[in-house]
Amino acid sequence: MSKEIELKPCPTCGAKVEFFEGDENHYGAIVCVGCGSIVMAENLDSDEELIEHWNKRPSPWISVDKETPKLGEIVFIVIGDLPEYDIGVLTDSGWITMNHSLSSSKDIKYFMRKPELPKE
Ligand SMILES: [Zn+2]
Repeated sequence: MSKEIELKPCPTCGAKVEFFEGDENHYGAIVCVGCGSIVMAENLDSDEELIEHWNKRPSPWISVDKETPKLGEIVFIVIGDLPEYDIGVLTDSGWITMNHSLSSSKDIKYFMRKPELPKE
């Protein structure tokens, strides 16, 4: 049984996740609908702790509801809830993506900046 709770997206793939409440027979669990990552309440006291733990996992994905990349900045993007990945750039006239049609750009959920290369 899943429940509506404020959960951050999967730190690995950027997809949305589902929460399954624990009961006397099962640990509570958070499952990613994209990559299948599972975190269970096994070593935690309660489902509340599980949710808190999940939401503290660091993620490089940034929600486009919170922030947008700079115009012309090339970023990795997640499209849709079952994530498809692409490389995209935001321009004056909207997103341009390498492998998806323009119509799917409205489904862009998260982006990730290119990691800094180590300096020698
Ligand atoms: Zn995932």
